[in-house]
Amino acid sequence: MYSPTPGRFLLRMRTPVSEEFAGGYPSDEEWHGYISNSDRVLLKTINFASPNSAGAVCIDPACTWVEQWVHRAGPREKIYFKPEEVKAAIVTCGGLCPGLNDVIRQVVITLEIYGVKSIVGIPFGYRGFSDSDLSEMPLSRKVVQNIHLSGGSLLGVSRGGPSVSDIVDRMQEKGINMLFVLGGNGTHAGANAIHEECRNRKLKVAVVGVPKTIDNDILLMDKTFGFDTAVEEAQRAINSAYIEAHSAYHGVGIVKLMGRDSGFIAMHASLASGQIDICLIPEVPFELHGPHGVLTHLKYLIETKGSAVVCVAEGAGQNLLQKTNAKDASGNIVLGDIGVHIQQETKKYFREIGVHADVKYIDPTYMIRACRANASDGILCAVLGQNAVHGAFAGYSGITVGICNNHYVYFPIPEVIAYPRPVDPNSRMWHRCLTSTGQPDFI
Ligand code: ATP
Ligand code: MG
Repeated sequence: MYSPTPGRFLLRMRTPVSEEFAGGYPSDEEWHGYISNSDRVLLKTINFASPNSAGAVCIDPACTWVEQWVHRAGPREKIYFKPEEVKAAIVTCGGLCPGLNDVIRQVVITLEIYGVKSIVGIPFGYRGFSDSDLSEMPLSRKVVQNIHLSGGSLLGVSRGGPSVSDIVDRMQEKGINMLFVLGGNGTHAGANAIHEECRNRKLKVAVVGVPKTIDNDILLMDKTFGFDTAVEEAQRAINSAYIEAHSAYHGVGIVKLMGRDSGFIAMHASLASGQIDICLIPEVPFELHGPHGVLTHLKYLIETKGSAVVCVAEGAGQNLLQKTNAKDASGNIVLGDIGVHIQQETKKYFREIGVHADVKYIDPTYMIRACRANASDGILCAVLGQNAVHGAFAGYSGITVGICNNHYVYFPIPEVIAYPRPVDPNSRMWHRCLTSTGQPDFI
């Protein structure tokens, strides 16, 4: 599995920042367990009988046996940077996600183990590079020791901010030659642009991302940090909605969960809870009204079970809402509130048909995003944080760390942010969810 393969390398590999890499000097010789640059991990391990079998999607339609590889993450025997010459900076951008502090902590601790003395945090995302009121925050093991015990980000987060060339100007002024970027697709687009700008200016700077998406919607990755915690925390909201609905006469509970483009949280939380009757995700269109609509099924559930619980992902059913064209500071489209819409339409529908219904709506988004990472995310964050530092020291730039087929790897940034990874409506997992809820098609 790890040996170099004569097969095709379809993904563009990022090379070490300089050819001098080959002449790098060895680190502590007592440190065993190094990863070689030729250790690679297979991206897809399924041998497809046909591209359509079992809902599996072949990345390369021409392949039956897919040979796509990425570099295995981990410490290299030879390192590119001299630790005493490194000034490392960490920045967290976008929205909050459980585990940000865990990653910051591991990056700092690992940098110190390499012998780096100069480590700083950039406050409030990319904005921290431009705002003269915001000064960089010195980081050390002592500062970060206990930060993982609470949610949020020690450094703060933001959207919007300066241009890429301004960011690189500031990096040059401050002498930053290692940048660790924690964020989602927007942040990674920024990180890739910073990497390109550094290459254009011939700066020996390593830009390494750690993908932060609570939605678990990054291409090619088994799982991103924060997702497990989100699914676990969502259980509380679903259980409360269930108890409210179950305890009321003709109770209907509606829970809106995160998932702008992909319904992984809603699907997994519905499956885990076993208390959801209707799960609605962005990838599967549905109608509210009409003989096959959600509301008709809710009426059926009220008549047969006495109560019902709906779980809806925030990006679901956007076609049912009025478009506002509003955008946030980073240029992302502001979504309409599908949870509130379903709540209002449900109340109206039962009023109109003269059936009593007690509708309760719960939106736990901010409670989930702000909470502390659970044990499994804590471990994932630790490995990702450490591997980000190993990648930078190995001399890679324009990469992001992740887990693929249970192996920790370095991905080239552009390949993983091309578009959000969706739930496949033909996948076994979505069908398992449908089996669990017992819901029909709503079209
Ligand atoms: P989340 O998933 O929480 O939304 P995100 O990383 O996608 O995280 P954004 O607010 O979209 O969050 O972007 C974060 C930062 O990245 C912002 O400061 C934004 O200005 C910058 N950014 C977004 N897209 C790009 C891009 N294409 N090029 C350069 N910078 C970008
Ligand atoms: Mg985003």
